[in-house]
Amino acid sequence: MRILIVEDEIGIANFLKQGLEEESFAVDVANSGAKGLMLALSGEYDLLILDWMLPEKSGIEICTQFRKEFKETPVIFLTAKDTVQETIFGLQVGANDYIKKPFHFEELLERVRVQLRTSSSGLSELILGSIVLNLNAHTVFKGEEEIALTQKEFSLLELLIRNKGKVCTRTKIIESVWDIHFDYNTSVIDVFINSLRKKLKISDKEETQILINGAFNLIQE
Ligand code: CA
Repeated sequence: MRILIVEDEIGIANFLKQGLEEESFAVDVANSGAKGLMLALSGEYDLLILDWMLPEKSGIEICTQFRKEFKETPVIFLTAKDTVQETIFGLQVGANDYIKKPFHFEELLERVRVQLRTSSSGLSELILGSIVLNLNAHTVFKGEEEIALTQKEFSLLELLIRNKGKVCTRTKIIESVWDIHFDYNTSVIDVFINSLRKKLKISDKEETQILINGAFNLIQE
């Protein structure tokens, strides 16, 4: 899942990015309202976290513009604007949730999860053959055996299972799992796919196949 943070306080932005990446999200940061709006309108995000007071364009303007094109994508305000009237206004322009600064990361994380749960139809477990990925507990089991994955491996597996039966191109994988600073020329995706295959002990004879042919395709037989 890919999250856009629009926040001009670099310290807060970095803190959030690091915390969310540790929870296996792919995270991009925009430090101005204009850049934030441009990235948001690319449509590549599963959730937006918006500050209100930003250079060039306010979070309110971003949210209003964004809602004209994207009706479903969750938006969370994270702002020092803390009056009841401001909270109501934030929700009225289309935000799904409103968190006041100073905030606790654990609470923000739960609120992010709630929004993503709601927007992806309440799924907390993703299943592919004998592989079960639990989004809340952050665990992966193959049959009875728990498989230890890194954050990126977990995100990649999540993406592949969510798209089972469909072609998952390199571009889609990069956009969903890595951030915008990813070097498109590296073979890092192949390395991760190979590592996943090894850890999950996936062989061609099994119910699950991950094919590597320039595009990746996860097929359930
Ligand atoms: Ca600000």
